[in-house]
Amino acid sequence: NPDAHNDEGEVIFPSLPPLHTGHPEVHLRKGIMNASRLAAAHEPDAEKAFFVADLSQVYRQHMRWKACLPEIQPFYAVKCNPDPYVIRLLASLGTGFDCASNNEISNVLSIGGVDPSNIIFANPCKATSFVRNAAKMGVDMMTFDNADELYKIARAHPRAKCVVRILTDDSKSLCAFGIKFGAPLVTVPGLLAKAKELNLDVIGVSFHVGSGCYDPSVYTDAIRRARSVFDMGKEAGYTFKLLDVGGGFEDALFEQAANFLTKAINEFFPERSNLKIIAEPGRFYVSTAFRLATNIIARRAPLPSPSAAHKEASEKDSDRPSVMYYINDGVYGAFNCILFDHQVVHPYVLSMNGSFHVPEDAPKELSSVWGPTCDSIDCVSEKTMLPSALRVGDWLGFDNMGAYTVCAASQFNGFEVSKVIYTTGSDASGAADVRAALMKFSEEGHGL
Ligand code: PLP
Repeated sequence: NPDAHNDEGEVIFPSLPPLHTGHPEVHLRKGIMNASRLAAAHEPDAEKAFFVADLSQVYRQHMRWKACLPEIQPFYAVKCNPDPYVIRLLASLGTGFDCASNNEISNVLSIGGVDPSNIIFANPCKATSFVRNAAKMGVDMMTFDNADELYKIARAHPRAKCVVRILTDDSKSLCAFGIKFGAPLVTVPGLLAKAKELNLDVIGVSFHVGSGCYDPSVYTDAIRRARSVFDMGKEAGYTFKLLDVGGGFEDALFEQAANFLTKAINEFFPERSNLKIIAEPGRFYVSTAFRLATNIIARRAPLPSPSAAHKEASEKDSDRPSVMYYINDGVYGAFNCILFDHQVVHPYVLSMNGSFHVPEDAPKELSSVWGPTCDSIDCVSEKTMLPSALRVGDWLGFDNMGAYTVCAASQFNGFEVSKVIYTTGSDASGAADVRAALMKFSEEGHGL
């Protein structure tokens, strides 16, 4: 099985795609050259889009986390990108996991090496069968935010370690969750009294400031609210020992968020020798680690003849891009992040006219970029400046494509979800660390 070995001949995880070394740029180019070879051989689907995942970037984010938030154990939010290598790498680095469903729990446990106590079932509204299954799998920690969930947990998993998810200000986030989840503080005493009556163990408090939080000062108020719920817990006869600060961490604002969190924890939980603090970061770990290469499969541009060009232009709004590019991944695929995750993506040229060298001063024009399906909602970029010399067969790249992309991609219109090429990166020490972590995990018999 040629997939059983990576470039160095090392066996990593035989059941998974090969794990390469080298800079992601190198693998983008290799992927494109490989596509050209397949196209020349008239292979079907030769030019398909692909991701390049740099696992050393996931590793670097983990190091950043440990440096800035040493007291907080990350429980990676699997929903964000359940990539098998990412999960194995994070498991080998000792993170926990935030799972939202049975399948996510099974997926994480199936690799071996993850103790069920390192999983939080962080979905406050679960199917009864899921709660029962969690009990069977030994996953005890789970969130709730309403009384019905407490009745359900009491029936299906009476030994559960319940965590009350509270409502916090999520108005400073790309994706707000407060409309759907989170107990308002006024309801918490009633919920805790009900939990006591049902003989349930409530061990702590969780919140989520919303995904893609662009004002990390909101963590201060969230921690203040959590503190008051700890006091409510005392009133109800509980001694909470878990604080879960959720997700929402943006790459560019991470250090700021860590600062706000650290200060607030020091202020509101000065005595915390018996307190375990966890978080549920998703996009922070994976967003910057994945790039996507897409092929221009079609182009609509005014005909070169001046009269035809003039006619076509006059039929359109003047401020609408006159050149339209159609690429082979779209909003029904990896770019679902545009619709579901409110992302704005920025295409850049990976290769043009068979060359990876794109002159900086190449003349550009206002263009739009579309996905491959027959639906007009499938627009990747409404307006962007791209070189006028771009043609069908050229390649466009997109950075920061690791979060909420592959996981929600569909096969609408028969288009396959883009595959991932993996590298441990070119930074010698980072790549070696990733490799060592994965090898150790593999040698311990996990992950296969
Ligand atoms: N935890 C829960 C319960 C979530 O719903 C989400 C995202 O939907 C996350 C964590 C991850 O959030 P983020 O990717 O913003 O860190």
